[in-house]
Amino acid sequence: MSDCCSVNAKPGAAPAVMACPVNGARCKQVDMLTVKSLVRHLPLAMPKTQYYFCEAPGCDAVYFPLDARAPLFRCGDLTVRVGAKETADPIPICYCFGFTRKDLQREVVKIGRSTTLGRIMTEVKAGHCACEMKNPSGKCCLGDVTRTVRDGRNEKGGSKL
Ligand SMILES: [Zn+2]
Repeated sequence: MSDCCSVNAKPGAAPAVMACPVNGARCKQVDMLTVKSLVRHLPLAMPKTQYYFCEAPGCDAVYFPLDARAPLFRCGDLTVRVGAKETADPIPICYCFGFTRKDLQREVVKIGRSTTLGRIMTEVKAGHCACEMKNPSGKCCLGDVTRTVRDGRNEKGGSKL
């Protein structure tokens, strides 16, 4: 698995977890590269600070800074839809290869399993993913994909792999 899928803790740096200033959810750090890649317009002279990613559904805040002088970015500031916060289709799951929740659910309903997961894993192994720059969480989508497939199967009545 590529480096973009690992959580890197920097000792002595900003706290690993911060409360979202909008809804108070506990949020994890996100790399500045991810923020810069997905926010449509970055303000000039932004202070250097650690950003955090709020994935809570129903909260409009996406990225908030440790340093309050830096701006908070909301759903509308991003170039992509934040899957974790969306309730209407299309709900993106895999940002690198463009699969939505519906794509996965449709496949599970049709054939009772997902070939997409395997296809994504192959691409990830080959180093073709770019989660850090494409996924708002900055992390690999495989966990979300696996969860969606599992939920879809459970809804279907627990059919086997
Ligand atoms: Zn929030």
